[in-house]
Amino acid sequence: MTQDQLAPPAVADPGRGFLAEVVARAGTAARLELCIQCGVCGGSCPSADEMDQTPRTLFAMIRAGMREHVLRSTTPWLCVSCYRCTVRCPQGVQVTDVMYALKAMAVAQHTYLNATAADFSRAFVWNVETFGRSFEAGLSARHYLRHYLTRLPAVAPMGIGMLRSRRLRLLPPRRIRGIADLRRILVCAKALEAAA
Ligand code: SF4
Ligand code: SF4
Repeated sequence: MTQDQLAPPAVADPGRGFLAEVVARAGTAARLELCIQCGVCGGSCPSADEMDQTPRTLFAMIRAGMREHVLRSTTPWLCVSCYRCTVRCPQGVQVTDVMYALKAMAVAQHTYLNATAADFSRAFVWNVETFGRSFEAGLSARHYLRHYLTRLPAVAPMGIGMLRSRRLRLLPPRRIRGIADLRRILVCAKALEAAA
């Protein structure tokens, strides 16, 4: 039996409208509607203990139409995009893509609870648009100085250790070759997102 032959669970679906909305945002290739609630994604997720809902539960809530709860969940914001869930999902659900879609929806509807998360995302995008890659030292320094000044002493030793072991660069990276091409791609991506 192929994955495509596995049908989605036949459950009462009062949240069809919200499910359709998330599917439209994530793209049909994300296959969210094929989730069979097996829980492999949550069991594979390194951030599951920190999330207020496991990915499996969040997907059940989407199906149940719990828009407010879903778009206020910490789960998408604590997803570190490791793609473990996506690789292991027996239904081929692109869990990570769904998390990105939920973040975009939460930002658009101003429902995210963690006010710093959206700012972090914007700063990350600025880095990519400016250098063509991430600048982790600048990103984390900006984030802690702006939002978590009192926590800075606690994380400073980790940052220094990463600098010493060359896991972190203190100076901004060089711009990638082809930065103009990348910017054109990003402009197109933003236009597509705005039209979605
Ligand atoms: S692993 Fe896939 S099918 Fe299983 S609960 Fe997660 S998304 Fe649904
Ligand atoms: S991609 Fe996100 S949701 Fe999936 S396992 Fe990694 S952290 Fe968890």
